[in-house]
Amino acid sequence: MSEPENVALTFDAEHPDRSWCPSDAAERILDVLAGAGAHATFFVQGRWAEAYPATARRIADDGHLIGNHSHHHARMPLLLDSGLQEDVDAARDAIARATGRDPRPWFRCPFGAGADDPRVLAAIAAAGYRHVGWHVEVEDWEPARTPQAIAADAIAGIRRHGDGAVLLLHTWPGGTVEALPLILDDLQGATRFVTVDALEELP
Ligand SMILES: [Zn+2]
Repeated sequence: MSEPENVALTFDAEHPDRSWCPSDAAERILDVLAGAGAHATFFVQGRWAEAYPATARRIADDGHLIGNHSHHHARMPLLLDSGLQEDVDAARDAIARATGRDPRPWFRCPFGAGADDPRVLAAIAAAGYRHVGWHVEVEDWEPARTPQAIAADAIAGIRRHGDGAVLLLHTWPGGTVEALPLILDDLQGATRFVTVDALEELP
């Protein structure tokens, strides 16, 4: 097994769907990334950017790549064509207002739902996006998961996938905040942390 050369850390920046998460988790994740000099890709939910414009702005100012993670964080296949377009556009407007950046062409469906649905993918493409999934997920949203378990699964998954691995994380679980330094420490050296626009193939 050789060390993966390029790894894309990706974070979904969105309203938490658990009650236990620390309110400053996203800021602490940005602190850790800045301390390590690592850049990541953040898929930003429009309504989250409206609620936390300063944190959303910091993601951009810190030099991370910004994508669109929808406005309402709904399961996209449940929306009508008109609803799909409205949701994606509302998110783009909110993200642009908060961050000063256009999230196109990067889009990630909430829950990954719709990533295999031709109707959803066509709507996303018509709005100027391509979908970005992930290779490695570590259930960092589960309250029972320890930071050590999250980190170990992330590192093992990245090594298993090899070069160009895309890791899915979230900006709100406390476990993610504490797992991130362990992941960075373990992989740093041979690995470059890149944003998804640097990858030749996307999941
Ligand atoms: Zn999400």
